[in-house]
Amino acid sequence: MAEITACRSCGAAGLEPVLDLGRTPLADRLVTQAGLAGPEPRYPLAVAFCPACGLVQIRETVPPEVLFCEDYPYFSSFSDALLRHSRANALELIAERGLGPTSLAVELASNDGYLLKNYVEQGIPVLGIDPAEGPAREAEKIGVTTLQTFFTAALARQLADEGRRADVIHANNVLAHVADTNGFVAGIASLLKEEGVAVIEVPYVRDLIEHVEFDTIYHEHLCYFSVTALDHLFRRHGLYLNRVRRLAIHGGSLRLYVARRERVGESVRSLLAEERAAGVDRLDFYRDFATRVTGVKRGLLELLRGLKAQGKTLAAYGAAAKGATLINYIGIGPDLIDFVVDRNTFKQGRYMPGQHIPIYGPDHLLEARPDYVLLLAWNFAEEIRAQQAAYEAAGGRFIVPVPEPRVL
Ligand SMILES: [Zn+2]
Repeated sequence: MAEITACRSCGAAGLEPVLDLGRTPLADRLVTQAGLAGPEPRYPLAVAFCPACGLVQIRETVPPEVLFCEDYPYFSSFSDALLRHSRANALELIAERGLGPTSLAVELASNDGYLLKNYVEQGIPVLGIDPAEGPAREAEKIGVTTLQTFFTAALARQLADEGRRADVIHANNVLAHVADTNGFVAGIASLLKEEGVAVIEVPYVRDLIEHVEFDTIYHEHLCYFSVTALDHLFRRHGLYLNRVRRLAIHGGSLRLYVARRERVGESVRSLLAEERAAGVDRLDFYRDFATRVTGVKRGLLELLRGLKAQGKTLAAYGAAAKGATLINYIGIGPDLIDFVVDRNTFKQGRYMPGQHIPIYGPDHLLEARPDYVLLLAWNFAEEIRAQQAAYEAAGGRFIVPVPEPRVL
């Protein structure tokens, strides 16, 4: 593990502190029954701002081989909303760019092939790149050719030399995860065909700050991007952010259309102007964030402890990384929350990092009938409420933690 002394993107010194979440366990590292007695490593989690290029980032880099090990429990295909979102994105690009049997669609961090399978169905050659063994194996089963490795500048050059350059490169929720930010973007530049496009999705730092989504901060997320910071990053590698779209997914994201030719559109110009007007490119924008995070902590503890004091029973929904950050930073343990439910069968039977709350399947909600369920996966609130209509109909209530704790 290493603490950075200079900006991950531009290399400038003088990073300014924004928020310190203390020492937390790895948010994706669910604990097994056997592991409960063993040691659980914790790492500092502190957020900083680079005044030179505007990039918000965490200071620590946990080595990728520690973070993304074989046991990595996240399979993309477990969320319906995400699957629909990905399919619509793929079909739109296929139509817009007239892709066919001589094209190549590449996805970086292709997981279980949840996105590329939409290209395969249309007879378009694909290549997935992902270091996680389990998901890569699942991808191969559905016809998504997958290189089980990390994407690097060297791998991109090798593929380009072999004549495997891409018409479309997808990179969803991965750019923020890579320690070598510049190497990754350089790789995209060499892998893209002259007229190709990289379609990259990242959580938007402005949504994070404005909606107090501090639980989206964890060790896997090294960078928290603004359009300003991204524009600097791409230009350094001869790439241009030509088009951008704001998306509601994951609490507010950006979909970036990046190419080797400069054709900057109105969508980019207006978001850059908005960021300048709001001050997203300056430290002042981030100054009171820590105070608002402390406010959520105080409010949520008060709410949960109050309910508990009235004899109410509490559970939580969503054993995802953001849930781990939330319960560990706030200090929500088995004394408050009896159990967590999650649809991902991989996670069931394990325990939340740090707080060791047991994880069950969603059926357990109807069996145990807790009075309140804390929505740790608040980004899928609508989907979860639709699936759990029976629980609410039976009198159960959901609690959303951010931007301020409230009972739905
Ligand atoms: Zn910087």
